[in-house]
Amino acid sequence: MTFPFPGAVQRARTVFLVAVCTVSMAGAAAAPQPADTTLIVNAVLIDGTGALRRPAAVRLRGDRIVEVGTLTAAAGEQVVDAKGLVLAPGFIDTHSHGDHGIFDHADALGATSQGISTIVVGQDGGSPGPLSEFFGKLEKAPAAVNVASYAGHGRLRRKVMGDDFRRHARPEELARMKELLAEELKAGALGLSTGLEYDPGIFSEPSEVVELARQTAQAGGRYISHVRSEDRYFWKAIDEIIAIGREAKIPVQVSHLKLAMRSLWGQADKLIRTFDQARAAGVDITADIYPYLYWQSTLTVLFPDRDFENRQTAELVLREISTPDDLLLGTFAPEPSYAGKTLAEIARLRGTDGPTTLMALIREALDYEKRTGMDAESVIGTSMSEADVEKLMAWPHANLCTDGELDGRHPRGFGTYPRVLGRYVRERKIMTLEDALRKMTSLAAAHVGLRDRGTIRPGAFADLVLFDPATVIDRATTRDPQALSAGIGKVWVNGALVFDAGAATGKRSGRVLRREPVS
Ligand SMILES: [Zn+2]
Repeated sequence: MTFPFPGAVQRARTVFLVAVCTVSMAGAAAAPQPADTTLIVNAVLIDGTGALRRPAAVRLRGDRIVEVGTLTAAAGEQVVDAKGLVLAPGFIDTHSHGDHGIFDHADALGATSQGISTIVVGQDGGSPGPLSEFFGKLEKAPAAVNVASYAGHGRLRRKVMGDDFRRHARPEELARMKELLAEELKAGALGLSTGLEYDPGIFSEPSEVVELARQTAQAGGRYISHVRSEDRYFWKAIDEIIAIGREAKIPVQVSHLKLAMRSLWGQADKLIRTFDQARAAGVDITADIYPYLYWQSTLTVLFPDRDFENRQTAELVLREISTPDDLLLGTFAPEPSYAGKTLAEIARLRGTDGPTTLMALIREALDYEKRTGMDAESVIGTSMSEADVEKLMAWPHANLCTDGELDGRHPRGFGTYPRVLGRYVRERKIMTLEDALRKMTSLAAAHVGLRDRGTIRPGAFADLVLFDPATVIDRATTRDPQALSAGIGKVWVNGALVFDAGAATGKRSGRVLRREPVS
């Protein structure tokens, strides 16, 4: 209004641009400078917050999302046509065992091929460590996915107590664990993980865990736990984790939530009520869960009292937790030919019954481990009911996870997220696609304390997955656990395409994600 010649500035700019162009054209036949952005067009956007789907384009620059909405391509900009597929935030796997194979499988194909962009490791009390070393190694040799980690209680306990762990810790041992925990938290651990059904965590007193959890809370960390029992002492174990949340004033997450015993089946409603009451009383309790009726663990975990020669316990296990036909050996180092066979098949081969075989296999495995110092066995057991899994999965405070490995024997390592999207959302309709994606992204991020990931919005990191909701489905089975899923098109991690058209691209743009300060 006060400028006498409104066109003057504009004209001056045009002249300047023409001049620049002329200079450039006069140069070494230079192509126009490509824009440093990528534009994804024709996508159905589901942003991870639970908001309804909408058509939108998304612009990426470097490792970030810079614009979302109705956008047109700039000159020289790389354009990706989503062809009407769903664009969602990359999935955040809050319970992964990918730390075991990440350096041998830096493409992390088991993860990226199902849409995962971030794995959270250091679970069940076992973390790679020290974390400063693990993180340093990963930063020198990055993987295709982001990696965050908890500090494992079992690791601290082993380090301090050695093989003499079948007892409560002494005060000076707990003090030493706290020193080690402080180092892990300083290195960027998200918090403390426990595996209270496993050695050596199972021998800890509740007060030991509360003390370490309190220290974790003071550092702004969180608590995640394979609780002390998933079957015989289940309700006591749930009471314990709620008490840890209350006493240590720390957010607590139940890992791979399940009701893994026949006499517990049908109690999902009661469990959800228990959680909701704890939340109403101020305990921030949440859970993660995977979409299978069978778990993978060790044979020894089936004996919480470690009474491996007790026939009554063996009979109870095979009656209540998993029948001989439902226990499938993943590995068995003392007799490798048993891998892929059920306990019933092995019992027939040995000419004996289930309980006798179960006790004998554990004896042989422990003997092997003593001799070699190596893990001797893994087993897949069917113990859950479909109705419970569906109810627990739909609990608003449950996010999805795999509990899988990058080269494991359980199909969850390759199939979890497509299985939820195909089987539980599209076919069984137990929740909406928007809600399922929220549980895979923003809710998962919140449950492990990651910021700027898990939603599609300007400023967030460009971790994205493009998939077809009409065809997405898992293909991995117990017999073919590493079969790739169908329907996952492209996956970006920190702005780089890591998975495309059914294969890893070879890009390794994943980062180490350290605990972020509480704001
Ligand atoms: Zn576990």
